Amino acid sequence: MEKLIEFFFPPRCAFCGKLGKSPCEDCKKNIRFISGNACQKCGIPIGDTALPFCPSCLRENFAFERVFPVFYYEGVVRKGVHLFKYRGFYQNAITFSRLMVKKILEANINADIITFVPTSRDRYLQRGFNHSFLLAKNIGKILKIPTIDLLTRVGYTKPFYNLSRQERQREIKGKIKLKKGYENIIKGKKVILVDDIFTTGATANECSTVLLENGVKCVFVSVLAITKFTR
Ligand SMILES: [Zn+2]
Ligand SMILES: [Zn+2]
Repeated sequence: MEKLIEFFFPPRCAFCGKLGKSPCEDCKKNIRFISGNACQKCGIPIGDTALPFCPSCLRENFAFERVFPVFYYEGVVRKGVHLFKYRGFYQNAITFSRLMVKKILEANINADIITFVPTSRDRYLQRGFNHSFLLAKNIGKILKIPTIDLLTRVGYTKPFYNLSRQERQREIKGKIKLKKGYENIIKGKKVILVDDIFTTGATANECSTVLLENGVKCVFVSVLAITKFTR
């Protein structure tokens, strides 16, 4: 798929869209990777503290093991995600998935299956493809782990924009299902769930809950970026 993408889309910086190397020299200077002592749940930096979790994860009871965010959702990263999701820069998936793989490898988790957050039918029809699928497919290819389309959405979900954490949780509850015929394949397996942005974690949590209820051993969440304030 990478070759195909490269054929149709000349190399551009995944963050600003400029033709050439990705990231370009300018963006390289402005990209800040998440690093250092991190929350054992959501992966954000927590600095020097005796507690393993950030304040919001201390309140939450997420079903997944932990999140591996590469960046905060800000600055050039935000711009790159916007190009990827709304401006047809599909080739950004190559740069983004490589960075996500690096983060997964650091954690040494030996997952069995890669899957991704399903998009709603309406949004799929609007945009033509699921961005998380594109990231998941690339990650699976690099790690040599099968990428399986396990989850589906049922019913209507309001757009999450402007909804609070609790509203999002209520809105997504019961709207994610395991596709038929995968029960035996996932039993006892370690799964990496891929999404582009982690905001409140409501969707990732619901997907993880469904996977765990159906016999998955544990779920890790790989995201390109995590938002700073809404949690
Ligand atoms: Zn750039
Ligand atoms: Zn946290």
